[in-house]
Amino acid sequence: MASQEIEALAGALARLPGLGPRSARRAVLWLIKRRQNALPELLHSLEAVRTTLVECHLCGNVDTCDPCGICADPRRDRRLLCVVEDVADLWALDRARLFAGRYHVLGGRLSALDGVRPEDLSIGRLLERIDMRGQTGGESGDESHIEEVVLAMNATLEGQTTAHYIAERLENRPVRVTQLAHGLPVGGELDYLDEGTLAQALRARRPV
Ligand SMILES: [Zn+2]
Repeated sequence: MASQEIEALAGALARLPGLGPRSARRAVLWLIKRRQNALPELLHSLEAVRTTLVECHLCGNVDTCDPCGICADPRRDRRLLCVVEDVADLWALDRARLFAGRYHVLGGRLSALDGVRPEDLSIGRLLERIDMRGQTGGESGDESHIEEVVLAMNATLEGQTTAHYIAERLENRPVRVTQLAHGLPVGGELDYLDEGTLAQALRARRPV
């Protein structure tokens, strides 16, 4: 029988995404064995996350400053705005360093099943950011140059429903709306792909 403390820690870790009870117990054991070295470092990181991180009021990213480092970076192209579902998606895109513009985090995706409605996401804030085009930004900073909105939702049914909804809301606004292409993954072999991916790739074919 494990002590109450160990059970409590395992229970807390098991609530983390990707960790079930079994892997949580393994993580606890790992931490116990390294409690002199790894644990103080982990405690320090957790405390830093608790006390220093804030949500950017412009884009919804998480950083130690508001506006976040990306929004405040003068080298970012303010004409480009990439809309993502979650902060993790922003991080993934930005790690690749392929996108030079700024971001907007929705905070989820529309889902009839989970009861997520447009007003539960930061879609209103997105429209505000775009509508500030042509105006000086006021206290929120200069948001006045957005010319293209890149919809970078996940290639899931709910992600695509969300993208369609936003595209509709943007229809009468003076911005170009684009979407990430769907199709063959790099290194993917046709034989292994599902029909949905193949169909998307075929639809999105382009001249060579
Ligand atoms: Zn930001």
